[in-house]
Amino acid sequence: MQNFTYHAPASLAEALALKNEDDAGTRFLAGGTDLFLAMEFAGEPVKTVVDLKKIPELTGIEELPGGGYRLGALTLMGQIEAHQGLRAQYPALVDAATVVGGPPIRNRATLGGNICNASPAADASTPLLALGAELVAVSAEGERSLPLGDFWSGPRQNALKPGELLKEVRLPALPEGGACAFERLTRSAMDIAVVNAAAAVSLDDAGNFASAQAALGAVGPVVLTVDGLGDALRGQPCSPEILEQVRKLAEAAAQPIDDKRASAEYRRDMAGVLAMRAVERAQLLARQGKGDEK
Ligand SMILES: Cc1cc2nc3c(=O)[nH]c(=O)nc-3n(C[C@H](O)[C@H](O)[C@H](O)COP(=O)(O)OP(=O)(O)OC[C@H]3O[C@@H](n4cnc5c(N)ncnc54)[C@H](O)[C@@H]3O)c2cc1C
Repeated sequence: MQNFTYHAPASLAEALALKNEDDAGTRFLAGGTDLFLAMEFAGEPVKTVVDLKKIPELTGIEELPGGGYRLGALTLMGQIEAHQGLRAQYPALVDAATVVGGPPIRNRATLGGNICNASPAADASTPLLALGAELVAVSAEGERSLPLGDFWSGPRQNALKPGELLKEVRLPALPEGGACAFERLTRSAMDIAVVNAAAAVSLDDAGNFASAQAALGAVGPVVLTVDGLGDALRGQPCSPEILEQVRKLAEAAAQPIDDKRASAEYRRDMAGVLAMRAVERAQLLARQGKGDEK
């Protein structure tokens, strides 16, 4: 491991000032489960590491007054896994957090790190995108919010400006009659996803789709949304024909490559299958939420 200077500031202001001193050579540290691997094995040149763990503003999981949740950037996957309120509203996020590594990793790995690392296979990022999450970034100049969908521009590239860090994630409340689901395919336990998919849907009083969004991981340079899904499903019942449309839209959205985990062709096929399963399961959960078990 290369030598670096380590700081553990107790305030946001101090952390931001340290980063501003030498933005290019300084990296924020949350759980370190991605950062230290990048430093050790990808040789990322880092002179200074600023540990964020002592900063209270970056922690906490709170229900927002108007509905939805705020999750501090330092929220651990293990905290999401154990949170009953999140499980009740966002099972897709809880299921995704629950498959990140094993328990020791989930007790280090943060939600903010999963997002900022900008891996296209980041499991917790896929449901967040399907759920329409907003991010709050902070710098010495103040705070700004941006949609998660605008955050990634390529593998390991995010929209944080020099001197900015991710403060929190805001999840909107699911619409009335809404539910969400997560699906994932791996080669073996503890491996990263070959493909993952998440869907968030809501149903109208007739049991037809009122809204639908889906996201796909590990099939492109960033986690992707399935374009056109809401328009295709709105007002329709969940039939085999509609699920076939979901499959086709997901296959069209995917931009996979061949790598050691799978061929591009297999990934595209599986993106279609997992998107279909996620939409079908989300609508089943939405039906159950409405007291309709059919
Ligand atoms: C054995 C193992 C198994 C894994 N399995 C999975 C898996 O199944 N699924 C999966 O998705 N991931 C997996 N991971 C990857 C990893 O655990 C996650 O991506 C994790 O959520 C990253 O969070 P962290 O807190 O460790 O981030 P760190 O490593 O601390 O940081 C990652 C990057 O984000 C930056 N950063 C962190 N927080 C902030 C912030 N608040 N503001 C600005 N920049 C920030 C850091 O500077 C760094 O560049 C695995 C990792 C290991 C080692």
